Amino acid sequence: MTSPSSAADYRVIAGRLAFPSKAYIDGGWHEAASGKVFENINPATGAVLGTVAHGDAADVDKAVAAARRSFEDGAWSRAAPEERKAVLLRLADLVRAHAVELAVMESLDSGKTIKDCLNEIGHEVPTFFQWYAELADKSFGKVAPTGEKTVAMIVKEPVGVVGLVLPWNFPLLMAAWKLAPALAAGCSAVLKPAEQTPLTALRLAELATEAGLPAGVLNVVPGFGETAGQAIGRHNDIDVVSFTGSTEVGAYFLKYASESNLKPVGLEMGGKSPFIVLEDADIDDALIASAINAAFWNGGQNCSANMRQIIDLKVKDTFLHRVLEKTRALVVGDPLDPGTDLGSMVSAEHQSRVLSYIEAGKSEGARLLAGGGASAGLPGCFVDPTVFDGVTPAMRVAREEIFGPVLGVIGANGVDEALKIARDTDYGLHATIFTRDIDKAFHLAKRLPCGTVAVNGFTEGNVTTPFGGYKRSGSLARDNGTEAVEQYLQTKTIWVSLR
Ligand code: NAD
Repeated sequence: MTSPSSAADYRVIAGRLAFPSKAYIDGGWHEAASGKVFENINPATGAVLGTVAHGDAADVDKAVAAARRSFEDGAWSRAAPEERKAVLLRLADLVRAHAVELAVMESLDSGKTIKDCLNEIGHEVPTFFQWYAELADKSFGKVAPTGEKTVAMIVKEPVGVVGLVLPWNFPLLMAAWKLAPALAAGCSAVLKPAEQTPLTALRLAELATEAGLPAGVLNVVPGFGETAGQAIGRHNDIDVVSFTGSTEVGAYFLKYASESNLKPVGLEMGGKSPFIVLEDADIDDALIASAINAAFWNGGQNCSANMRQIIDLKVKDTFLHRVLEKTRALVVGDPLDPGTDLGSMVSAEHQSRVLSYIEAGKSEGARLLAGGGASAGLPGCFVDPTVFDGVTPAMRVAREEIFGPVLGVIGANGVDEALKIARDTDYGLHATIFTRDIDKAFHLAKRLPCGTVAVNGFTEGNVTTPFGGYKRSGSLARDNGTEAVEQYLQTKTIWVSLR
């Protein structure tokens, strides 16, 4: 992928974009049944990008009917695995070929930096479709050890119609995390993007048709949570829901399932993840880059953000000095400028929420060392990267998910205290540990109740490694890795009695 190098170039591309405005159902574009639309706003400028169909229960019904018909006719669900693989590989290629267009669309829709959008859409999204395409014809069933008189086969079958409900922080990447394994498994899908960021998932559906995905296999219904999202959660003809979003809304999906057809619900939810630096760690460039990335990547709008930075008191001053230097050098501004490090928050509402947490930190007695408010002189929903020292485990900024660019430093006296503070949370998504002592690293990794532990470098892992949360961060379901496909398969035993 060759990409332009200046904001001016990206603005030219932006000027030429045609934004999707309708729901994508059964291989074509549809107005909402109600005729309603909602405005789609660029949070970095406040400009209205256009209007989008306001899907609700009637549109979800239509999408589920198309998905069910496509599932039952077998053109995808019973296609040979190598045929599914070929279509998904073509989709990966199409995303690569359209990566710049999709990245600009996503940046305008979300306020995310073009740098991040290009990385996610140019590299990660196609990698997901490619990896699960390759898995499609390399998955085997089992034969049970039942003896000479029987052959008992254990086979996996696609679960049917899946409902995928997505957040706004990585719009196309989260779509790929769920769609790639669901489609590779042979399911048909009804996908609802977040209302803040509907565009790239809609465009992806069109590209999937171009890649050869049969009509009705992928349906995208833009709309709001309480209407379209709830209709998916309560639908009696959706077999599984996979949800990524807040813990509060995840709980609704369990309720919807229990009040409808008891569909299994996979939940990927919020976090309040620790970043632990022990006294023996080298406070070098790599560690500081990880600390900055862990707190400020994607403007802190990241479920695995390591906002609680638990630093051994013996190295805290050095750590803080270097973190502040780097924080002050971060460029906040035009998301379409390739030199920008932090773009806009996704909406004015979310910006207010983040600012209210910063005020809570100040009033609860945390010591503000950098940032601390909305970015001066910028038109949209920007927040300056903020660093607090003197955060204590009881403060709201240490307990609740902020989902913005706030790094809070908590001092710890030794490894046991660091572990105690790190464990003191309702969430369990992620943790990072820095130490030169491999024994301590493993000790902490095993004692931290969370789905991913990164040692000596902040990372969420990649397509090969399962991602999900313990406690209020998730259910047993995992995205990514071979584990993700399990969400979209069911297990059948075929017991053959031999004569
Ligand atoms: P959200 O929970 O507000 O919304 C997520 C989705 O649910 C959206 O599509 C929304 O329309 C829908 N929704 C909202 N209310 C609903 C309702 N009453 N019924 C049905 N659907 C409803 O989350 P968000 O603000 O879009 O995203 C941020 C959250 O997502 C954060 O908590 C973040 O930690 C989490 N997240 C988790 C992961 C992960 O893999 N664990 C990844 C990204 C984001």
